[in-house]
Amino acid sequence: MVSGDKIVIVGAGPAGMEAAITLVKAGLRPTVIDANARSGGQIYRRPPADHRRSYKDIYGADAAKARYLHDAFDAIRKRIDYRPDTRVWAADKATLFLDSPEGPLALPYDKLILCTGATDRLFPILGWEAPGCYSLGGAQIALKSQALALGDPIGFVGAGPLLWLVAWQHLKAGSEVAGVWCTAPLKNLFVALPWLAARPGLALRGLGQIFALWRAGVPIKYGGRPLAVTADAEGHVSGFQWSNGVKSSQTPLRALALGWHLRSEAQLPHLLSVPKAQGQNRPMVDGLGRSPTRGLYLAGDGLEIMGADAARIAGRMAAVALLRDTGCRQTFVNKLKLVSDRIKHARMRVFSSGLARSFPPPEAETFLALPETTVVCRCENVRLAAVRAAAENWKCKDINRIKALTRTGMGRCQGRYCSATLMAIVAAETDLPISDIPEYRAQAPIYPLEIPNKQR
Ligand SMILES: Cc1cc2nc3c(=O)[nH]c(=O)nc-3n(C[C@H](O)[C@H](O)[C@H](O)COP(=O)(O)OP(=O)(O)OC[C@H]3O[C@@H](n4cnc5c(N)ncnc54)[C@H](O)[C@@H]3O)c2cc1C
Repeated sequence: MVSGDKIVIVGAGPAGMEAAITLVKAGLRPTVIDANARSGGQIYRRPPADHRRSYKDIYGADAAKARYLHDAFDAIRKRIDYRPDTRVWAADKATLFLDSPEGPLALPYDKLILCTGATDRLFPILGWEAPGCYSLGGAQIALKSQALALGDPIGFVGAGPLLWLVAWQHLKAGSEVAGVWCTAPLKNLFVALPWLAARPGLALRGLGQIFALWRAGVPIKYGGRPLAVTADAEGHVSGFQWSNGVKSSQTPLRALALGWHLRSEAQLPHLLSVPKAQGQNRPMVDGLGRSPTRGLYLAGDGLEIMGADAARIAGRMAAVALLRDTGCRQTFVNKLKLVSDRIKHARMRVFSSGLARSFPPPEAETFLALPETTVVCRCENVRLAAVRAAAENWKCKDINRIKALTRTGMGRCQGRYCSATLMAIVAAETDLPISDIPEYRAQAPIYPLEIPNKQR
């Protein structure tokens, strides 16, 4: 049975591409909207069309998966309404509002699959506003899509699999890696081994990257605290200071990439008032990604950070949920595939909980020890002193109030990069668990928009 419903998928990463492929196989013609010029999402991001590098060079061990997904998506291009370079900047129960190459558009929908992915989770360091300081994702995107290293020597600080991966990718690309500073203690990795063993191949690949960096003589430090990024007379990054709790060290470098794992890109479910899962900071869904809001499904890192393989499975499962809800019958083979997908997805969740155990965000003391002059919102240049003063003067612990009083989260990134910081600062100062601190409320436009001339 073919539904006449208007089905829209937001995001053409692994989750969105698999959802589209599944729906096309069932005879449907979804619309796929993606902010990027080319499909692939983050991990399978395609370089500009005129770049001539092999899949192996760009995607390394993931080359076969990247090629499969790119080819499979290209094969359905004529059977979907694909809209690249288009951003959903607002949404209500029946309409998506698009910023597209044709200008602003309103797109009605009946069913919506959100596969919006993730962005870096960043925390501030004194001096990190200096040019030469990037997110891990930014450094990786420059390397992957433009074959560009952002500075030589370049250092890496944070915690999470991306820290090691991006450092290793730079090493492999011939950059001088000044050091890797992981804020999580080394013992965490061993404690998390039973969970990481759920995907032994992937765990070994990660350990292999750490080993390769160590073997190449890259200085590696665990379990300490970043103190400051230093700058030269022109204001450009010139060094990085680190404390291991007993003594501090200074390393000269020309670029620093930082990040503490990832955060879901969850503004659209917030705008659509999807309730939160109990005790968790993510939208509520059932085992297939079906939300309590009728016709709304979520999949991939935009729902839960579990990586690209899990995102592909989640995209397929969300499409199956949608097909079931529109009355499309599933063949026996499809039912078997769903059972296998559910088992694999559950195993991947165990692995990602191992990663969360290995690489937690910095401890409360890190935030309590931040100097008052630290910039906490880079877009609006708001320093910690202003946040503390607002919180104290106005007796407020809600980061939405702090936003209104100080302009944190009101700039170009719309709070994507300072919300985790503000939540951590308030949690540290009030001694509450981070899950008790409400996030920024999503506000449309969720991206900065160009105002057409005649509206000025
Ligand atoms: C910066 C970064 C680097 C990463 N590097 C690696 C890596 O090297 N190896 C690895 O294994 N994993 C990596 N990951 C994780 C991996 O990319 C994800 O696990 C995987 O891509 C998740 O797939 P997804 O489909 O859920 O989301 P994504 O692949 O992120 O795709 C989401 C897509 O949705 C689009 N989108 C989001 N919101 C909107 C909107 N409002 N309107 C229109 N389009 C929208 C985005 O532009 C994007 O194309 C990285 C993640 C990030 C954030």
